[in-house]
Parts: sequence; C-alpha cells; structure tokens
Amino acid sequence: MHPLLKKKGFILDIDGVVGRSVEPIEEGVRGVLKLIEAGKRVVFVSNNSTRSRRILLERIKSFGIPASERDIISATHATASFIAREKNGARVFTTGEEGLKEELLNAGLKLVDYEEADYLVVGSNRNLDYELMTKALRCCLRGVRYVATNPDKIFPSENGPTPGTGLIIGALYWMTGRKPDVIVGKPSKVIMLEALRRLGLRAEDVVVVGDQIEVDVVAGKRIGASTLLVLTGVAKKEDLEKASTKPDYVLPSLESLFYS
Ligand SMILES: [Mg+2]
Repeated sequence: MHPLLKKKGFILDIDGVVGRSVEPIEEGVRGVLKLIEAGKRVVFVSNNSTRSRRILLERIKSFGIPASERDIISATHATASFIAREKNGARVFTTGEEGLKEELLNAGLKLVDYEEADYLVVGSNRNLDYELMTKALRCCLRGVRYVATNPDKIFPSENGPTPGTGLIIGALYWMTGRKPDVIVGKPSKVIMLEALRRLGLRAEDVVVVGDQIEVDVVAGKRIGASTLLVLTGVAKKEDLEKASTKPDYVLPSLESLFYS
C-alpha cells in the first residue's frame, strides 16, 4: 500500500488532476472514486477566480464524481469567506465576473462602487475594459484593503495561454506601486487553511495533490501537509530537476496511488 493512503484527508486540485477544463482526466477521476471508497475525506481546491462553487460542482459531477458544494473551495469562495471573517458585511468593489460576485454576496458582503468600498477585490474578468480598470485604479489609490483572488499570471486555456488575474494585479502595481495586501489562492496559505477547516483535520493527516510544483506543492508545504505531484497536467518529469521545491511523492496520476 502506498504510504500516503495512511492519511485521512486529501486536498485535491481540479485542473490537471481530475479534469482539463470541461474534459475529465479518467485516471484522476478513478483515483478520486477509489479514495472516497477507501473512506478518505476529500476536498477540491481551485484557484479559478471567475467560477463560483456551483459552476465547479456541476463540472465535477459531470466527470462522474459524487460531490456537494461543501466539498469545493474555489478562490472566489475562499476570498469571500476570508473577507466576511475579517469584516462582516464589508462593502466591496470588485473587478471580478459574476461567479466571484455571487460568492461575495453569498457571504453577506455588499457590492458597491469604488468610492464607497472598504475592500478592493481583484479577480479575473474576461470583459475587462478601460472603464473597469479606471475604477479599480481609483479604488486602489484610495488605500483601501486590497485582496486578490489568486496570483496566477497566465491561465492555460484549451487554445493556448490567456491572461490570468496577473493582468490586473500587474497593471495596478505599475500604476500605483501597490501589491495586494492579501492573496487568497494557491500557493497562499489562506485558501489551504480554509481547506483544512473544511476537512476538520490537522495538516499532518492530509495530502495535498496537484499538477504544478510552484502552485500546489508549495501551497502544501506552507501548511505542513504531505505533497503529491501528479503528471497528468502542467508539470513534466524533467521540471522536477530544476524545481527549488520538491514534492514528497511524484506519480503518473492520482489513480497510481492504488498501484504502487
Ligand atoms: Mg492544476
């Protein structure tokens, strides 16, 4: 039996582990089903900043994985929970799309224009325009608390690289010299601590699984969990040699846990 199967809980990345966008990764899906069958607690963590948990849940279910909204932590949801814990009912200006707005409202926060905001929440927006960027700039210049959903520079889409949240974070930095006060998504601890709370487990009882060293493995190390890199996504075997952070284990896929 693989030593990681002694652990009680698994924090799983979605893209590159169980699916590629809307397409399932069969070995990854079979791996999740086997973990559930073995009685492991499982939570999915995604840096996606445009989709709500509801949308991610539909995707996971379409892969044939039984899950509920409670089993998913998206950067959108974790950002909303983080702000709600820090300042209940806070007034927020966001650059984000509907998925992020939905989570902010669900957490009891108020969406307001930039002049009235206590928080600037930066998340990706595929319809970003000059007017929205102007508002984000002015909100940032007001010196309000600045929270970014994730630090992703580039998002790998089906037809090639597209701008990640870094498009807005980078532009604001160039214009104002400000960086986010808090970044929620991986490799930040903020989203990982939310995942641990959800599992109700301590880090030493948990495995963090992902397909990117600088994102998932670093995030897992930051909370002191065991880390497993799977090669069904971004990272290739040859990337391991030059990586400054080494995962505890590397396997071809999540399902390989049960065959090694
Ligand atoms: Mg991934």
